[in-house]
Amino acid sequence: MSAIVGIDLGTTNSLVGCMEAGFPILCADADGERLTPSVVHFPASPASPVVGRAAQRLRALAPEATVFSVKRLIGRRVGEEEAEVGCALAGRPGGPVKLAVGGREWLPEEVSALVLGKLKADAERALGCEVSRAVITVPAYFNDAQRQATLRAGELAGLKVERILNEPTAAALAYGVDRLGERAKIAVFDLGGGTFDLSVLELSAGVFQVLSTQGNTRLGGDDLDRRVEQWIVEGLKADGLADDARWAGDGELRARVRERAVEAKHRLSAVEEVGVELPFVDGTRSFSRVLSRAELEAMAARVFEPVREHCLRALSDARLRPDELGAVILVGGMTRMPLVRRMVAEIFGREADTSQNPDEAVALGATLQAGILSGSVRNVVLLDVTPLSLGIETFGGLMNVIIPRNSTIPTKAGEMFTNAVAGQRLMRIHVLQGEREMVRDNWSLGQFDLEFEPSPKAQARVGVQFEIDANGILHVLARDTKTGREQRVQMASAVDVSDEAVEKMLEDSLEHAFEDMNERAFTEAQMKSRDLLAAVRLGLEKAGALLREDEGERIAQLMRAVEESAGAGASGPLKKAMAALDDATQPLAALLVEQAMGPR
Ligand code: ADP
Ligand code: MG
Repeated sequence: MSAIVGIDLGTTNSLVGCMEAGFPILCADADGERLTPSVVHFPASPASPVVGRAAQRLRALAPEATVFSVKRLIGRRVGEEEAEVGCALAGRPGGPVKLAVGGREWLPEEVSALVLGKLKADAERALGCEVSRAVITVPAYFNDAQRQATLRAGELAGLKVERILNEPTAAALAYGVDRLGERAKIAVFDLGGGTFDLSVLELSAGVFQVLSTQGNTRLGGDDLDRRVEQWIVEGLKADGLADDARWAGDGELRARVRERAVEAKHRLSAVEEVGVELPFVDGTRSFSRVLSRAELEAMAARVFEPVREHCLRALSDARLRPDELGAVILVGGMTRMPLVRRMVAEIFGREADTSQNPDEAVALGATLQAGILSGSVRNVVLLDVTPLSLGIETFGGLMNVIIPRNSTIPTKAGEMFTNAVAGQRLMRIHVLQGEREMVRDNWSLGQFDLEFEPSPKAQARVGVQFEIDANGILHVLARDTKTGREQRVQMASAVDVSDEAVEKMLEDSLEHAFEDMNERAFTEAQMKSRDLLAAVRLGLEKAGALLREDEGERIAQLMRAVEESAGAGASGPLKKAMAALDDATQPLAALLVEQAMGPR
């Protein structure tokens, strides 16, 4: 049987590991390096693409033929993502984003597959055997489309993807179960090149459970790199070494500046100031300036400010105070920055755990998960959570939640639904994701129809079951319990939900909580009013002639009042009108009862 490897397919850097004699080991490449930059260079054909450190070096010389941060585009659609990845973007509006490079168009997963291909080859050389199976990690916030695309990337690289694992979960696994007491809770703080994740996990009875997760797949070291680049560009302009036109037109200059910026940022994690030099930047003159750690920290404080909010929200989602945490684990290269460590210490009121190498923890965890799957590691089970609620549309445009947000996955939940209209033959199952009350404010993941036995109103029984599998992919099952007819749909083409959109959804759901509640109350009252009016009309048909004239008139008047407030939009007046009508129809109800009991 071939080995299963664990892979951290990062925005900036990727790593691969495997179990050796019961220990997770990261594989080094031919240069002895374990960190592979997730960069692919496309030389003029017929040479094949270059991956990793060599590609990164070529990026300065041929920026337009070199792709980086492709993870920011994986599983995304044109028009949704503006990420800079080096080369030009292509693709039809609404269709998947493509990259125009190396004389053809590439899907992001095809480029990721090239990175995975190099990792596979490095692992094969290190192990001396063929590698065809892998566990690959993704940010906890990756949606269905992004997970599916990552899975395809693995397949394209010739790897059977045994599991898509959330990065914070992998990091927690690497941290080690044995070091934690029973029922210990830990926070995993992951700030990488392009993504930020904060997850709270609990260990109980040998099981890791993710209590909550918060994040942003577009917040990371890259954003700080851009600030430092800006700082250099302003310096270049002030020294008269470059102007806007040159900056816009000179890709090589931009790449050189980017390199200097990243280098300065890294060195400032260890020293207090660095010289930033660009020799002969305009052919004859050179650029040289000193950047201090204090200046860098001023930029970083602004860039990373949103991190605080994410942390506080994850804690509140998990209903935890910082002092209830057993440990805070740092993951991601950016957490080497002293300012980031201070921020973490301040937010959580404690020093973070730095026993793990922050760049390697995720890959080690993926490797341990591979070990669990192949049976060489025992006694650990991992559970993840779903970041947004999932449900279906019900009568009146309301969302009915089936799996609430932050539910542990894999999970399965179901509910029974019925028909709103007598004789209905089809039930439309409209699958939704989001935190708002009304369907129109949530995201549609897709819809399908289930045919069922026509029956009187509210007599049909249709069970709808949602199942999220271990990879975070949603399967929906709808079944007519009378006939056993069922339909099973895998939500393969989930709406592409960016984490910013997830953020906005959560914010909106708080901001609009009252409006939403009112709207839901009104919609429900409106549906009830329809039922009430129909019942009164039926009663009038049967026994209206027996009412006193003033009783009949009062009922007619109150029916109009109900109709009017049902068109108005506020639930209070409508409910009042319904109560009044209900009251006024007491004599009618009594007559109907008498009628039903028959002549005495
Ligand atoms: P990803 O998960 O996005 O692939 P990594 O965990 O490898 O990212 O982190 C990459 C980020 O960490 C980059 O922004 C990189 O510049 C930054 N980084 C790496 N080492 C250091 C350091 N010593 N000081 C500051 N930032 C660092
Ligand atoms: Mg990472």
